[in-house]
Amino acid sequence: MFEFDTIAAISTPPGEGAIAIVRLSGEQAISIANKVFHSPSEKSLLNVSSHTIHYGHLKEVDTGEVVEEVMLSLMKGPKTFTREDVVEINCHGGIVTVNRVLQLVLRHGARMAEPGEFTKRAFLNGRIDLSQAEAVMDLIRAKTDRAMDVALGQMDGKLSRLINELRQALVEVLAQVEVNIDYPEYDDVEEMTIPLMLEKANWVKNEIDKLLQTSSQGKILREGLSTVILGRPNVGKSSLLNSLVQENKAIVTDVAGTTRDIIEEYVNVRGVPLKLVDTAGIRETEDIVERIGVERSRQVLKGADLILFVVNYNEALTKEDELLFETIEHMNYIVVVNKMDLEQKIDLNEVHRLAGGRRVITTSLLNEEGVIALEEAIAALFFDGSIDAGDATYVSNTRHIALLHQASERIVEAISAAEADVPVDMIQIDVTRAWEILGEIVGDTMQDSLLNQLFSQFCLGK
Ligand code: GDP
Ligand code: ZN
Repeated sequence: MFEFDTIAAISTPPGEGAIAIVRLSGEQAISIANKVFHSPSEKSLLNVSSHTIHYGHLKEVDTGEVVEEVMLSLMKGPKTFTREDVVEINCHGGIVTVNRVLQLVLRHGARMAEPGEFTKRAFLNGRIDLSQAEAVMDLIRAKTDRAMDVALGQMDGKLSRLINELRQALVEVLAQVEVNIDYPEYDDVEEMTIPLMLEKANWVKNEIDKLLQTSSQGKILREGLSTVILGRPNVGKSSLLNSLVQENKAIVTDVAGTTRDIIEEYVNVRGVPLKLVDTAGIRETEDIVERIGVERSRQVLKGADLILFVVNYNEALTKEDELLFETIEHMNYIVVVNKMDLEQKIDLNEVHRLAGGRRVITTSLLNEEGVIALEEAIAALFFDGSIDAGDATYVSNTRHIALLHQASERIVEAISAAEADVPVDMIQIDVTRAWEILGEIVGDTMQDSLLNQLFSQFCLGK
């Protein structure tokens, strides 16, 4: 157990909800709370049992002035998130009162927590490992239920367990190498150990590759599927954006300019988080304002995971439409044929031919028809029948992905060395390094500065 002073912070998001919590953690947490807390019966918090909730008032020590009416939960270590004594003060006032409560405990011996410091303590006290700590961070930022599931799974230690299994296998490879180093004169030792080493090393490599395959989905779950709404002016792009936003809970709103510029909205479509981008029509134009939009549209297209390409049911396909089909030829897209309430002038067979087997959905955004079919097509594309967020172990963290790539490279080196009959101590170096790199995912071989940097990314109060 590490020695720490007592820290405090507001642990609820700013400005949200009627209740705010000030959290204290550390050896002095209970005695600090006891100095300022008064229950109706004036009982002392020093004598109450762990994991109990108390009603009372916080008062200024000198003047006895009431600061706030509170519910106070008291939890003694080690059965707490930080493994230290923890006191949570539930205030129902707004931000002003909550700040007064925080100031009060700071004046009586607590120190203002740094961002992520509660989680860092949990990590340093062995309550959670690093990948779990990072999951706490993802959880705070999770944009949809599915993203939340992934973070929860990771917090639960799924990823850590798998990484530890892989490290164990590498230790076994190293044991085989040792046998070789200890008995170099026996040729048959090498004959026996090399195949065993290769088998284990290949297993580890395959497991890492499998994890990395899930990583793009993990990233999408965290950041949203970047979805660009594309089409000529007036086909209904903004209407499509609006109806997707209206039908689905918008997660974050970030309106940048008008339709001539680019608008971004986060929505949750059947568990798939989409970052919707409405572009000005991509076309050659002399209009300066429009050109800015066009330029940016081209850039946005490059980074898109999915394109919703809107064409007009009420017009024959134009040269521009065909040009757009060509532009997105190698990308993931769904064609939306909009304005089906008007007379059909488009050749749907031609649309299907140009779309080359991709989904074509007919809509009337004016009458809100076809939107559900479109949403189903989006979800089907993403989930593809093969992704199950419930069971799979996802890697969504950029740091983890980078480390997995590095570890995989080392193992590939070791495998080719073993196959090429290179002296075994060369193999030893690569395998040891891979073992260390994997350890960094669970925080086993971390340096202090890196730790501080990681935890400082957390929200204050976590
Ligand atoms: P954008 O320029 O591609 O963003 O197109 P807008 O969404 O601004 O729509 C252009 C015009 O078409 C507007 O007047 C819309 O009301 C109209 N519109 C959009 N969808 C439909 C539809 O399904 N049927 C009809 N009749 N009009 C539509
Ligand atoms: Zn528009």
